[in-house]
Formats: sequence, structure tokens, C-alpha cells
Amino acid sequence: MKIFCIGRNYAEHAKELKNAIPTSPIIFMKPPTALLLDNQPFYYPEFSNDIHYELEIVLRICKNGKHVQPNFASTYFDKIALGIDFTARDLQEKCKEKGHPWEIAKAFDQSAVLSKMVDLPNNYADGLVFHLLKNGEIVQNGNTKDLIFPFEDLICHISKYFTLQQGDLIYTGTPSGVGPVKIGDKLEGYIGENHLLSCEVK
Ligand code: ZN
Repeated sequence: MKIFCIGRNYAEHAKELKNAIPTSPIIFMKPPTALLLDNQPFYYPEFSNDIHYELEIVLRICKNGKHVQPNFASTYFDKIALGIDFTARDLQEKCKEKGHPWEIAKAFDQSAVLSKMVDLPNNYADGLVFHLLKNGEIVQNGNTKDLIFPFEDLICHISKYFTLQQGDLIYTGTPSGVGPVKIGDKLEGYIGENHLLSCEVK
């Protein structure tokens, strides 16, 4: 399976990191070894001093596809989850400065937190609201209505370059409010009122 991630898919988040609004989706990938499942703790890695949380809606791909056309795109995902795209912001800034790939900052072990899956609500196109608590305080509040590239656009765009396979995941991008974690922090993620994700930093 493959894990696709989308960078800068919410305008307010692109602005907070002083990045331009993209004109096509920014795609990167994480390996399956990045997954952190079952609300397991995240162990702060020794190679970074600035790990950031990024809460994201994750799509699960339900069938194989290549060059998916827009009117069929919604049939390629059936379940959603919450994910945290943990990012070593200090390493990422260095990679960006040098124009290097940013895998070491984004694709390291445990960098892809994934909650349990839930069925995709029928009315998802009206906007899914989701939020993240850090130590009990709301730090991120998202609504998929604000996506620059909605789910269907991502399916079409990714499948131009990569064959989608059943079980692949797409982290669809983070809203504004990203920030650092430290050892001892507790992160809790919700879609609507549904508490789906817990992650303690150790
Ligand atoms: Zn992200």
C-alpha cells in the first residue's frame, strides 16, 4: 500500500507557513513503516527539536484505478479516518532552503498517525468538520469545504501519475493552526463530535 500526502491544501495553512497558494496539488508520499496505528504513543525522535502536528482527513482507496475521470472519482474512496502528518519542521526548513527532497522531515517512522476508519458520510460534499485538541485545548479546526483541491480532484490528479490501489491512503492536507509538540502532550482528534484519534507524545 501507498500513503499519499497533500501539502498546502488549505489557503489559511499555506499562508501561516508563508507559502504561495498552489495551482495544482502538491503530492508527497510516506512509506508504510511511517504508520502509527491503534492510538499508540508517538516517541519524539532524537533527530529533531521541532516536531509539529498536522491534523488531516484521510481517504481510504477502495479499488484500483489509473487516469480516473472526474465523474467517477467519488467511487474510488469509501472510508475516511483522521490522521496526523507529523513533520520535523526544522529538518523540513533546511530541505526547502537547499531545494532537497523532504522525506527525512515527513516520512520517518511513526510520522503517519492513523485513526480507525469510519464510513464516508453521504453528505460529505457539504463539508466535514474536524478538530484537534492539544492537552484539552482546540488548536486546529478544519472544514473540508475549505479544501483548495477537493477529494475528487486529488483522486484524478494523483492517478495521472500513480496507479491507485485498494488500501492506499490519502492524507488530504492540514488546516491552519499547526504547531509544535513536546514530550507529555496529548493530542485528540474529532470528526464532528466523533472522537477518533488519541496520541500521547512520549
Ligand atoms: Zn500535512
